[in-house]
Amino acid sequence: PVRVRFAPSPTGFLHLGGLRTALYNYLFAKKHNGTFILRLEDTDQSRLVPGAARHIEDMLEWAGIPPDESPQRGGAMGPYVQSQRLELYSSTAQRLVQSGHAYYCFCSAQRLQLLKKEALRSGHTPRYDNRCRHLEPAQVEQRLAQGLSHVIRFRLHEGAEPFHDLVFGWTRHDVAQVEGDPVILKADGFPTYHLANIVDDHHMGVSHVLRGSEWLISTSKHLLLYRALAWTPPAFGHLPLLLNRDGSKLSKRQGHIFIESFRSQGVLPEALLDITTNCGSGFDSNRMGRTLEELIAEFNPSKISTHSALMDLDKMPEFNRIHLQRRVQDPQLCTSLVTHLQSQLLLQHPELRDQDVLQLPYIIRVLHHRKAHIWSVKELLSPQYSYLWIRPSISAQQVAAITSEGPLIASLVIRLLEQSEELTVQRLSTELKAVAEHTSTKYKDVMKLLRQALSGLQQGPSVAEMMVCLGASETSQRLLRLLP
Ligand code: GLU
Repeated sequence: PVRVRFAPSPTGFLHLGGLRTALYNYLFAKKHNGTFILRLEDTDQSRLVPGAARHIEDMLEWAGIPPDESPQRGGAMGPYVQSQRLELYSSTAQRLVQSGHAYYCFCSAQRLQLLKKEALRSGHTPRYDNRCRHLEPAQVEQRLAQGLSHVIRFRLHEGAEPFHDLVFGWTRHDVAQVEGDPVILKADGFPTYHLANIVDDHHMGVSHVLRGSEWLISTSKHLLLYRALAWTPPAFGHLPLLLNRDGSKLSKRQGHIFIESFRSQGVLPEALLDITTNCGSGFDSNRMGRTLEELIAEFNPSKISTHSALMDLDKMPEFNRIHLQRRVQDPQLCTSLVTHLQSQLLLQHPELRDQDVLQLPYIIRVLHHRKAHIWSVKELLSPQYSYLWIRPSISAQQVAAITSEGPLIASLVIRLLEQSEELTVQRLSTELKAVAEHTSTKYKDVMKLLRQALSGLQQGPSVAEMMVCLGASETSQRLLRLLP
């Protein structure tokens, strides 16, 4: 069975790069009727950010790609948090010591520091010199008995075997040539990334590892560990980096790449998933507007390219607009937009609680009429649109300054609203012209008056559009105030 995992370290909030890795794993799982696991790699306790673990899982839920097994959802192969699995790592490390694949290292921090300095001075990349490999068993016993601080290191073999990466093809990296023996269990009893990662992938039955290409060269090391433990390794596929359109790092756009920040701008999760997969990787063709179901159906892992994926974040509004329109057209999804707007509006204007403008039919009508003009529902909460929710005030003087026929015009318009069953922009335009003629007022002034009474604005959507959007009853309520 296909089992894949997203294995972030909870050292920060979820950003686009992380979401993309999670998404490809999700797509791969769903494509193959497999399982998508979320595992938190929190073994570097000094870098933990409080709340990040919970946040990452919440963001996956929000994005619509929830894990099947995870810290919050549980599952048969948990726990899914590495700090809760320490026993497993230390027993595996012990097993490696017993089989001669790993050894205790008692080198002090000072010694390692010195090695590093010397290497740098002579222009070499610092690496551990594997000194403790050569300790006699008796020496080891003695130091352990003395209670000396120690780590466990994995004995690297020279001559790594090539492996076939699902994205990069045949790859080979002779780690022992460039690195000293890596620590697998730290002095505080915590494992390092390499050990914990492979122990968990093995025990959680992971079949495919899809992760960022920054881990490509670690894979040879991981394969040596699998071999030492006589475990069958999973298949590996490394995903190229996600960059800005100009090739710069995403993180250069500080703060703007966090999923939370997109959410608060009103970006819809499906728009975010769409744009993240729309950079020429993993699909036969690029097209905007794919839903999650379409992403799953069209995902083609063999099309993941080795090139960095360039993402044009400036196109976000365009992507969002497409998905917003789709939501508005789907009755069920539209209700979720309405609920969101209702709660936001109540926060801004508690006095609206029992008003018609906060009811489902009104908000749905607004969404249908404005969907082509906005990129995010958040826009409907901006001052420019406050007239939709709040009746603007208009004084008798303001009316008089425009025309002396204000009350007559208002009563004629109210009457025509009572008579027409369905408001359309076209019909209203004709009828408003007739009102202008009938009252011997310039059409321009009729418009000015109505615009002022309905929105309090000098500019904005056409008056007829505004009336259709507000609806007959709300429009009449606003015009009633022009009557003496
Ligand atoms: N914890 C690693 C990270 O944060 C996971 C790498 C992997 O998927 O193996 O990227």
